Amino acid sequence: MTAKKESGKEKKNAICEKLCFEAKKAAELADAHSIRAAEGFSGDYMKALNAGKTEREFHHFAVEMLKKAGFVELSSQNRLKAGDKVYCSIHGKGLFAAVVGHGPLTDGLAIVGAHIDSPRLDLKPNPLYEDNEMALLKTHYYGGIKKYQWVAIPLALHGVVMLKNGEKLELSIGEDEKDPVFVITDLLPHLGKDQMAKKASEVIEGEKLNVLIGGYPHPDKDIEKRFKLGVLQLLNEQYGITERDLLSAELEIVPASKARDVGLDRAFIGAYGQDDRVCAYTALKALVDAKVQNKTQAVILSDKEEVGSNGNTGAHSQLYFFAMNELQARVSGKELSRLDEQRCIENSCMLSTDVTAAFDPNYPEVMEPLNAAYCGRGIGVCKYTGSRGKGGTTDANAEYLNSVTRLFDEKKLPWQIGELGKVDQGGGGTIAYIFANAGMQVLDCGVPVLSMHSCFEVTSKLDVYNTYRAYVAFLENMK
Ligand code: MN
Ligand code: MN
Repeated sequence: MTAKKESGKEKKNAICEKLCFEAKKAAELADAHSIRAAEGFSGDYMKALNAGKTEREFHHFAVEMLKKAGFVELSSQNRLKAGDKVYCSIHGKGLFAAVVGHGPLTDGLAIVGAHIDSPRLDLKPNPLYEDNEMALLKTHYYGGIKKYQWVAIPLALHGVVMLKNGEKLELSIGEDEKDPVFVITDLLPHLGKDQMAKKASEVIEGEKLNVLIGGYPHPDKDIEKRFKLGVLQLLNEQYGITERDLLSAELEIVPASKARDVGLDRAFIGAYGQDDRVCAYTALKALVDAKVQNKTQAVILSDKEEVGSNGNTGAHSQLYFFAMNELQARVSGKELSRLDEQRCIENSCMLSTDVTAAFDPNYPEVMEPLNAAYCGRGIGVCKYTGSRGKGGTTDANAEYLNSVTRLFDEKKLPWQIGELGKVDQGGGGTIAYIFANAGMQVLDCGVPVLSMHSCFEVTSKLDVYNTYRAYVAFLENMK
């Protein structure tokens, strides 16, 4: 009896193996070897998160990481050959980096593209004012945030201030243990009757995102606005800043917290800004580690994705394409024709790598379980994005999707495929369409994230590590 039962089960397994597809589950993937490798990888990733909390800071971190690995500035090289490693800064906020392959660039590049800006609060051009003997800063939120998540938590101030003499001052206040932090105050529950009856989108209004920055008056009793002047006096003493300098500054308010292990078993990483620096870091590391191949390998790190990818540092900027053209010209050693440029783009294949929503056991109602990404199951692939009837989507061709996922299978890399939430629940999109519009083959994929766009986003260490492995496989093997 027992023997017969087992053979029945075996038969069923054999049929399933032949006919069915099921993504590998975290329980199968989390063996001791993988956990050890993921732990080792995550430490450096978390340092990168702490070092790069703004697009400018992450750009700086990325350039330093590339320089250490032997990359040099693209414009500093007249002729390039296979194995040469170059990078090109896009106005200090975006980056193009490449490792030259053996083949001609008209064969196209293998590109991993991520974005390095994150939702945050920007200071308004005229930020500083005083109200009832307190000094405050006006902000304008950047990207899709739930405003109520930004009150009553420690905040840091990062960015650049251009001084009157044209000098650039880089600021980071609130990260060192000895630094002060800043805060947006919230209403006490005792007086919150009306506030608590509001919709969540209105509980904290945009104009109430004012940051507390000072509470001691300027010592001169005869002047007005002593609390605002107290802060200006400090800024001037410590940094040489005047109010005029703030008008042209780019100052960003971000959570003051550091990246931390999450869970007793430390299976997760919690940090601000993992969207999309988790894909940016894993892509960079993959470019550094991948072996030189026929196809030239590249990474694009773009800015302004959270607000539509416009401007000279967003993915829409022609500068990313100029960098590709410059690379091609310096490899071929001749002036490029329009046809050479277009051939390179047409034959390029790209992973548009951005985080996707991970299935959250607290909110199963917004997910369609068969087509959701799950923590611990590896890189999440999205054939298309968009909202409602796939509005605004770029849809990867079946041929290309097949070639990428076959590669993942061949290399025994865990991957899963799905959509961002239920149909008509919302949606999203990223930089894929911009490069697809130019003519490249582009596929959306990335690390599943819990609490996306919050001040403390959560990823699985296994996913971070397996995503890095997927990018190495892509860069080394795409034909
Ligand atoms: Mn993103
Ligand atoms: Mn985002």
